[in-house]
Amino acid sequence: MSPKKAPAKKPVQAADAAPAPVNKKAPQPIQVLRGMRDLLPIDQSLWDETRKISESLAKAYSFDRIDTPMVEETSLFIRGVGRSTDVVEKELYSWETQGGENISLRPEGTAPVVRAYIQHGMLNMPQPVRLWYYGPMFRYDRPQSGRFRQFYQVGYEVLGDADPIIDAQLMVLGWNMLKGLGIDATVRINSLGSPESRANYKNALVAYFRSKKAKLSDDDKKRLLKNPLRLLDSKDPAIQELKAEAPQIVDWLDEESKSHFFRVIEFLDELGVPYQLDPYLVRGLDYYTKTVFEWYAASDDMELAQTALGGGGRYDGLVESLGGRPTPAAGFSLGLDRIVSRMKEKQQKQAGEAPLEYKPEPVLVFIAQLGDMGRKKALALFEEFREAGIAVGEAFSKANIKAQMEMANRRGAKWAIVIGQKEVLDGTVQLRDMDAGSQEIVDVKKAVHEIKKKLAQRLDNPPASA
Ligand code: AMP
Repeated sequence: MSPKKAPAKKPVQAADAAPAPVNKKAPQPIQVLRGMRDLLPIDQSLWDETRKISESLAKAYSFDRIDTPMVEETSLFIRGVGRSTDVVEKELYSWETQGGENISLRPEGTAPVVRAYIQHGMLNMPQPVRLWYYGPMFRYDRPQSGRFRQFYQVGYEVLGDADPIIDAQLMVLGWNMLKGLGIDATVRINSLGSPESRANYKNALVAYFRSKKAKLSDDDKKRLLKNPLRLLDSKDPAIQELKAEAPQIVDWLDEESKSHFFRVIEFLDELGVPYQLDPYLVRGLDYYTKTVFEWYAASDDMELAQTALGGGGRYDGLVESLGGRPTPAAGFSLGLDRIVSRMKEKQQKQAGEAPLEYKPEPVLVFIAQLGDMGRKKALALFEEFREAGIAVGEAFSKANIKAQMEMANRRGAKWAIVIGQKEVLDGTVQLRDMDAGSQEIVDVKKAVHEIKKKLAQRLDNPPASA
């Protein structure tokens, strides 16, 4: 059978041969969205610290982790946080899906946690239920220093317990976290009382500010109508002045809220947590009842001293208003972006004028290679170390031994293993002690074992420099 003739190649057409048209305008690089940012490797060790301490305190205080979705039905936040709060009225990222659902990126973590608590029948578990979360929140805030449109919070919620000791313990937890991260902070506290006492106080406040209407800005007049308590934390200098004469909520508290508040303070005194009573602290979200609190870092900088690192309080009505049975609860969240920024300032202060440098993850062993055979063997040896649980580094794409040794130093390796053609043929490796500068030849099959042995010796008998 004669072989089939290959089909004739299509002649190259003039049009095919012509070079592709040159795009004269180079594409513009795309920037991150306004108010959003990348958390870069140089800062990840600080973020890691926040993750570690969040988890270890959660364990210490018996909180279980919960992760809720980043999007929820918009009505959850309208009902939970409050329709006329800034967070819902101005700052929600909301949209309608193809299926016609109204959904929003979560602006805070408490309402979703309460939704999950109700949805999964946690009301029927032994109470209180203690839950914690760590993750991004989204608010369409005006971007400015310390305000992002995606930011991170860690939060702790105790559901199903009305005791004031819970409020105090939550404040201790937050204080311990800030202290553990090297931030000297105080907690400001206040009580908003029961919904009834709060409503009575609101009326008194509205009457007072109405009598001063001429001095109010248009924004403040709107606040007076919609959310008069927010006037108390207005930054407007006119309000600051008027505030001094304004009625104070402590005078309107019902007996139960008052005694609850005094108990919280007694517990804080007992624990030695530094706190300040702040009659104007109201928090921006509608669900709070009784105790509210916010953390502020001690700082000489007025602006920093006035920027809250986190806050929380009791929200005894929220479970019911989201469809569960009446359940007392309290919780708080800390804003990690601001915390990391304080940690970074501290790091910078310690470094003086020197710029902060990215430090690669340290390793115990670094594998350097020479030539193609060495490189292949090194690849397999790397896997052996990794599987043995030993922190190991490499620079396989580098051929130059000096560059590889520099890398070993930068990663803080205690031992370097060098493997070239001769070693492959002999079935050995060179093992260098990076501190002592000494070198020995060991059997490649025993390399992992040898390092383990040396490590054990080193732990028993650490060198003076280590
Ligand atoms: P809030 O419950 O609104 O008081 O938020 C609790 C904490 O989250 C605040 O004290 C801030 O540390 C942080 N936070 C709130 N909004 C933002 C934002 N837009 N950007 C960065 N951090 C924020």
